[in-house]
Amino acid sequence: MDSPQAPPRGSSSVAARPLLQVQNISCNYELERAVFDLSLTVNRGEQVCLLGPSGCGKTTVLRAIAGFHPVLTGGIFINDQQVSAAGAMVPPEARRVGMVFQDHALFPHLSVQQNVASGLRQFSARDRKEAVADMLERMGLTRHAKRYPHELSGGQQQRVALARALAPRPLLLLMDEPFSNLDQELRERMGQEVSDMLKESDITCVMVTHDQNDAFALGDKVGVMEDGAIVQWDTPYNLYHRPQNHFVADFIGNGIFLTGELCSANRVTTPLGNLDSGTALGWVVGSQVEVLIRPDDVIYDPQGPVKAQVMRRAFKGAEIMYTLRTSSQITLLALFPSHANFEIGDEVSVRLEVDHLVVFARESESA
Ligand code: ATP
Repeated sequence: MDSPQAPPRGSSSVAARPLLQVQNISCNYELERAVFDLSLTVNRGEQVCLLGPSGCGKTTVLRAIAGFHPVLTGGIFINDQQVSAAGAMVPPEARRVGMVFQDHALFPHLSVQQNVASGLRQFSARDRKEAVADMLERMGLTRHAKRYPHELSGGQQQRVALARALAPRPLLLLMDEPFSNLDQELRERMGQEVSDMLKESDITCVMVTHDQNDAFALGDKVGVMEDGAIVQWDTPYNLYHRPQNHFVADFIGNGIFLTGELCSANRVTTPLGNLDSGTALGWVVGSQVEVLIRPDDVIYDPQGPVKAQVMRRAFKGAEIMYTLRTSSQITLLALFPSHANFEIGDEVSVRLEVDHLVVFARESESA
């Protein structure tokens, strides 16, 4: 496991300036363990995501950082100040964190500007007015200032929630599935917009989501969680191309696993031909393995050695995702440019071209 260990406190590194350090925390609900020995570090200005299936503990980690959930072991530091430890908790309002919730949680009886002002009670009237005007302008909401939440679109409500969280100038922004109530097209646009805005304003952010597109749109680094622990902490590129275990490979992106056997230090024999790795794979020759084949590793090639039948197709605009079945009954997913336009039942020829060979020990002979 590639656990993201926090650097020793007092580290003199200039490049890495941690704003948030979560060190070996565990959290329970009554007797049930929800988070186990989890560590992560977020540097100033960095945006990170925790990504994982429902129930893996993402929200619990976020709630612990926000100060809504206690830790049983370990500690949480924000701006080098300990805010959580076993039996000790700085209250949420003293942590200087802003929070954006899944349902936006706007006050329905308050206008946009009143919603944004609601977190600024400690500001003077003049500073409050200035801060609200500034946030509304940055979020493109100035002309909606007097509207009520029900008079706004989903995307505009999302921006108000963000404006309200950012107005008190928090050290850290926490977002819990912030795009899940938006339709697919809007969530992609908002993801990009929010990411740009956070980057421009140098805001440090932790988001949790079960949607990898949201995570990849926003996260400089993404922690994939399983059963209360981070199983890989990495860039989106590495999570897709260099997953460290079967769970991550399965959870991130599409793909299938081909059975294989190492026939040399950097070559695997599979039922669909030999696959070469640029470097030694680190397995003993003869090892029984599984090889990850992503849809973009399956290339349409009229001269290709593998013949397969089209079982399903999903048009995606510039590309078409095909489910193919070879004569040896192996199912492949293939992403072809949309001019390679086939109908269900057609026979196509393909070749495998795998840039980064991802190989795991075979979990079972039937895999
Ligand atoms: P989701 O994506 O569905 O929101 P999650 O990854 O955020 O899930 P958590 O909400 O952190 O997961 O829950 C982690 C574990 O703790 C789950 O097994 C869940 O059932 C349990 N849990 C969460 N809240 C409570 C609670 N209030 N009481 C008891 N158990 C809880």
